Amino acid sequence: MLSEMRQLSSENIGVTIMRCPYCGQVKDKVLDSRERRDGTVIRRRRACLSCQKRFTTYEQIEGLSIMVVKKDNRREPFDRNKILGGLIKSCNKRPISMQILEQFVDETEQELSDRPGRELSSKEIGERIMKMLYDLDEVAYVRFASVYRQFKDINQFMDELKRLLEQKPEPDQQT
Ligand SMILES: [Zn+2]
Repeated sequence: MLSEMRQLSSENIGVTIMRCPYCGQVKDKVLDSRERRDGTVIRRRRACLSCQKRFTTYEQIEGLSIMVVKKDNRREPFDRNKILGGLIKSCNKRPISMQILEQFVDETEQELSDRPGRELSSKEIGERIMKMLYDLDEVAYVRFASVYRQFKDINQFMDELKRLLEQKPEPDQQT
């Protein structure tokens, strides 16, 4: 479990000590840094200050430094298993492959790590999931929406349900 305020930044990674693979010295100069698009790996081209040889390092960021902002403004680390678990539950016995669900979670995670501050509200995540399921499978959508909205918004929910049923003349009744 990550502690609440644990936030890794590129400054933390910059102090990592790398040993030259040729001569074993630790003093080097960074020539070039490239972050992988999802922000989890940084590739650095280095030159050893002792033997002048060049080498490349790949620095992996440990854990997730991306946070989800909850309704009450508390923050918790993004937990892909939690989101995937909710999706699997909503898609139980529906013709939706794990691959699609995992891809969706990957995309959400990717979007999160591209954001400045690396924060996404739980509301945004919920809306994203609803939109994805709406396009994918009406039963999964209704299941998720009923949990997500907690029936606080029953009229709106019923309207959506009605619209869905009108669109699909033969709704799948099996659950
Ligand atoms: Zn060296």
